[in-house]
Amino acid sequence: MVCARLDAPNKVFDTVLMGRERWELGKALGHTNSYPRLRTSVFSRTLTERPDPRVELVATDPWRKPGNSGRRTDTHLLDGLMRPLLLLDFDGPLNPHRAKEIPPGYSRHEIVEGTKTWQVLLNPRHGVELNSLAEVFDLVWATSWEHGANRLLGPRLGLPELPVIVWPSRTPVLRGSWKTPYVAEWVGDRPFVWVDDEVGRDDQAGFGDRQVVYAVDPGIGLGDADFATIRGYGYSFAGKEFRPHD
Ligand SMILES: [Mg+2]
Repeated sequence: MVCARLDAPNKVFDTVLMGRERWELGKALGHTNSYPRLRTSVFSRTLTERPDPRVELVATDPWRKPGNSGRRTDTHLLDGLMRPLLLLDFDGPLNPHRAKEIPPGYSRHEIVEGTKTWQVLLNPRHGVELNSLAEVFDLVWATSWEHGANRLLGPRLGLPELPVIVWPSRTPVLRGSWKTPYVAEWVGDRPFVWVDDEVGRDDQAGFGDRQVVYAVDPGIGLGDADFATIRGYGYSFAGKEFRPHD
């Protein structure tokens, strides 16, 4: 629950959207503004007066609220639990660059930017699966391509622009991935699944129960079984029953 961190500085998000029911939960505990460090909007067509001078009352659909582009990653809806993150490495999970031959479902793509050219293997099924997982997770790029993932890769898979974890240093570390300390700082206490081909037990060791480091074979990439497993984690984090054939 987020209640224990009401006064903690926000590192990951700056806005809370909630419905009347959720706002009334806080009010019953004596809080008309439960998240004083965050911008708060209460969506209700039945409340007629602003519940607190610092809380905005909105009578429209949250995704149609002016200033919200409609991307689910703009705002993390709090529905008792934070939406989990799906942190995406590219080379390995989405581009099985260690495959000895082109695996079924993939095709070779040449990515060109300026004087640079990269050869990658892409599977359109990944775009479909990831867009579907966005119903449960907030997707985030956690790849050495950094913002290049949004420019050069995401559009080829049909992915919208995603938040990007930027790496201040890529110096190898003694144990685990050099990405791990930056991932830890970025995610805070949010639940997540982090898919990457260069992670292992040492990386998992510093994270909590609902923070899953998920290793992917770079010779195979993400497959159907992986997507089902990841979806299962997402549902379990949200306290929902996972039905594989939904
Ligand atoms: Mg990788």
